[in-house]
Amino acid sequence: MSVFSHIDFDQHEQVIYSQDKSSGLKAIIAIHDTSLGPALGGCRMWPYSNDELALRDVLRLSRGMSYKSALANLPLGGGKAVIIGDPRSGKSEALFQAMGDFVESLGGRYITAADSGTGVAEMQIMAQRTRHVAGADPREALDGGSRDGDPSPSTAYGVFVGLQAAVQHRLGRSDLNGLKVAIQGVGQVGFGLAQQLKAAGAQLWVSDIFAANERRAVEQLGAIAVGQHEIYGLDVDVFAPCAMGGILNLQTLEALRAPVIAGAANNQLADAQLAEELQRRGCLYAPDYAINAGGIIDVCYERTGGSAAQVRAHVESIGDTLRQIFQRAEAEGCTTSVIADRLAQERLHAGRR
Ligand code: NAD
Repeated sequence: MSVFSHIDFDQHEQVIYSQDKSSGLKAIIAIHDTSLGPALGGCRMWPYSNDELALRDVLRLSRGMSYKSALANLPLGGGKAVIIGDPRSGKSEALFQAMGDFVESLGGRYITAADSGTGVAEMQIMAQRTRHVAGADPREALDGGSRDGDPSPSTAYGVFVGLQAAVQHRLGRSDLNGLKVAIQGVGQVGFGLAQQLKAAGAQLWVSDIFAANERRAVEQLGAIAVGQHEIYGLDVDVFAPCAMGGILNLQTLEALRAPVIAGAANNQLADAQLAEELQRRGCLYAPDYAINAGGIIDVCYERTGGSAAQVRAHVESIGDTLRQIFQRAEAEGCTTSVIADRLAQERLHAGRR
């Protein structure tokens, strides 16, 4: 399998494979760029059907982390880890200890964190073997209380701030009272966003394939539950995708009526060209990796130390970044996605000098 000529290689600094026979660990760590700081990115556990798929995923995700941290003005580079295995049946303490040793062997060039298939419990096991793990310790909550290392409350707050910036730009309103918002997925981030929108007076429509999560939003926040497909075609001001990626495609675009798309899900556009189609239709798209950076900001402060107030202020800068993206996109006649990438590349290049 070729790595240097891989279509997603994109000048990665390091791609390292590891196998631990006794625990059964098979993992890859990719470090894309460390010019702004150590490479931070989640550790995903997934039953990839072959090594090639695992490599493609880790390369794409680690490059994405370089862009995300650069755009969020963080002293971090981009990296990612994948464990080839089934998170439902393949987890063991020995496996994550071996993964901790693998992370430790890189001496801090890569810092790991939770991702799909891993969580706080796995971070705590890795932390037995390495300091270079984020999200394992209790943290001060944004409202001053205490919480575990889960960064999703900061992600939700960043999406709320970013949604406000998008609404102000596209609809010219700063007051969210009466704003109609459709949220796809009311899990950790989507529910947090819904709570803040409710407090600001917005009207909510929600859809979730997990009935208990949907019910929680209906019962606690007075949201209106709609079907999985119905959520796209509602006559609302904002569509907030907070479930899975790839949900903006030609089919869903046909149904969508909201003039603003602002949500947490990663990789929302099924295909990069769709950003042009959204622009053509007058729909303002808040680039996913710009608006959902609250989590990585939170994790960064966990590493460097910082109060909840500092985290909150940095998360609020997501609104400034988005305003800059929206204004530049208009001035340069480009999509918001193109401008977000350009801004991230400019910051990365400045860091390399
Ligand atoms: P989560 O698993 O807690 O919540 C996702 C919710 O979406 C679940 O309730 C699930 O049942 C629901 N869902 C899945 N498929 C659906 C569908 N087809 N229609 C409706 N609902 C559906 O995850 P989360 O942590 O809230 O993350 C949400 C999204 O935001 C993910 O795409 C994640 O990658 C992204 N994200 C999360 C963070 C974070 O800090 N948690 C940070 C950045 C990006």
